[in-house]
Amino acid sequence: MKTTIERGTDVADAVRTARVAATWWAGLAFDERAQRLDRWRGIIARRAPELAEIIHLEMGKPRPDAMLEIAMALEHLAWASKNAGKVLGRRSVRSSLLTINQAASLEYRPLGVVGVIGPWNYPIFTPLGSISFALAAGNAVVYKPSEFAPGVGEWLGRAFAEVVPEHSALQVITGDGSVGAELCRSGVDKIGFTGSTATGKKVMAACAETLTPVLMECGGKDALILDSTGNVDAAADAAVWGALSNSGQTCLGVERVYVHEDVYDEFLDKTIALASKIRSGSGAQDKIGPITMPSQVDIIRRHLTDAVAKGGRVVLGGPDAISGQYVQPTILVDVPEDSLAVTEETFGPTMTIAKVRTMDEAIMHTNASRYALGLSVFSKSGVAIADRIRSGGASVNSYVMYAAIPNLPLGGVGESGFGRVHGADGLKEFTYARALSRQRFPSLLPLTTFRRTTRIDSLIRVLIRALHGRH
Ligand code: NDP
Repeated sequence: MKTTIERGTDVADAVRTARVAATWWAGLAFDERAQRLDRWRGIIARRAPELAEIIHLEMGKPRPDAMLEIAMALEHLAWASKNAGKVLGRRSVRSSLLTINQAASLEYRPLGVVGVIGPWNYPIFTPLGSISFALAAGNAVVYKPSEFAPGVGEWLGRAFAEVVPEHSALQVITGDGSVGAELCRSGVDKIGFTGSTATGKKVMAACAETLTPVLMECGGKDALILDSTGNVDAAADAAVWGALSNSGQTCLGVERVYVHEDVYDEFLDKTIALASKIRSGSGAQDKIGPITMPSQVDIIRRHLTDAVAKGGRVVLGGPDAISGQYVQPTILVDVPEDSLAVTEETFGPTMTIAKVRTMDEAIMHTNASRYALGLSVFSKSGVAIADRIRSGGASVNSYVMYAAIPNLPLGGVGESGFGRVHGADGLKEFTYARALSRQRFPSLLPLTTFRRTTRIDSLIRVLIRALHGRH
C-alpha cells in the first residue's frame, strides 16, 4: 500500500486510490474511526521527539517549540476524534405546524476525498487542523506538504498507515507548488488550503474550474492592543513572544502593536528589554532560528527599509541586524500606517509599536487592515474593545489562546481567508449537511399535490395570516 508518493507520480493515481479508501473509511462507525485516530495520536505522542527533530531539521524551529506545536496539534486531534459522532451524527430536529406529519432529521456526511495543502511554518499544527478533522468526519485525505517540510508530512502518513493498514485513507504526495496545483484540478471533493493569501488566490482560481469547494487559511497582520488599564508586563511578554517566536513566521504572529499613550513609554522600555535578550541563531541557547525561505529575508528587509525611509525609527535590530538567513529581533516605532511594515505580512521577528491617544484610534488602525485573522487585547474592557474589531479570533489579556482551545474554531476574515478548522465548525467544514424527512402519517392538509382543493387553498390564506400576519 502506498502512503507516500514521490515527486512526479501521478496525483490522479493518489486520488483514485483515495476514492476506494474513502468508501471504506466512511463506512466505519464514528467510534471505529475514533479508535484508529486515537492510536495514531498515541504513536505521534510516543515518538514526538523524533518528529520534533524532523521539524527542527527541515524548517529550523528550536526543538522545544516543535514539541509545543506537536502538543497543540494532538489536543485538536483528540477533540476531533472524540466529538465527531456527537457533532456530525444524525439527530432529530423539530418539524413545523404545516409539516407536523413529518419526522425530520439532520446529519453531516463526509464529502469523499479531501485534498490538503499545507505550509512549512507549523508543519504539524496547521495541516493536522484540516487532516484530523477531515478524517474524523469520514473523508479520505490526500495531503501535499510544503516542499520545505516534506519529511514531516511523510512521517505522518507512515504513522497513520500503521494504524490503518487496510486502505490508504491518508496519502502524502510531495513536490513543489505544481503538485498542489495538480491536486486542485484532480477532482477531489474539497481543498483545505493553508498558506499565503497570494497562493490561496491561485488555489481558488484553479478550484473554480471544477467548482471544487475550498477552505482558505491564509496570511495575517495581527495587532496587539494595550489599553491604559491593561497589564503592561503581561502585554510586553505577549508582544515579544507573539512577534518573535518561530522567528515571526506565524500566521497569527503579532506584527503591529497599538499602545495607549499613558502606558506607552513603560511598555516600550519593557518590550525592548525583553526582546533584546532573544537572539536568532542555530545554537542550543538561541531562542529563535533562521528564516526558513531564502526569499522571505528580502521581503523582511524591504519592509524595514521602507518603514525607515518613511520616517520610522529602529529601536532594536533593524535592517543592519540581518545576516544571511538570521534576522535579529526588531522593533520599530513612529512608523506611518501606510508603510509596508504595517500593511503587508512581514513574516519575520519584527513588530511596529504605535502610540495612540484613545482605544478608538487603536480600533480604527486595527480594522484598516485587509487581513483579519487574530487579535490580542490587554485591557480591563478587553471584550468590549475586541467586539469592535473584525477578526476570526480574539484573545483578551493573553496571546493566541483561542487557537489552543479545542472547542473553538480557527480561521480568518477578509484576505485572511474563510472557513474554519478546529471545533465543531472544523468538523462540519469537511462535510455536507444532509436533510431527511420521513412521513409518519398522511398530511391533514395535502399541499404538494394536484389533488389540492380550493377549500385547502382558502385555508392556506387563513393560515398565512394567522402564522405570520401579526408581525
Ligand atoms: P505558500 O502560499 O507559499 O505555500 C502554501 C502551500 O501551497 C505549499 O504547500 C505550497 O507548495 C503550495 N503551493 C504553492 N503554489 C501552489 C499552487 N499554485 N497551487 C497549489 N498549491 C500551491 O505558503 P507558505 O508555505 O510560505 O506558508 C506561509 C504562509 O502561510 C503565510 O502567509 C502564513 O500566514 C500562512 N499561514 C496561515 C495559517 C492560518 O491558519 N491562517 C497558518 C499557517 C500559515 P510549496 O511550498 O511546495 O511551494
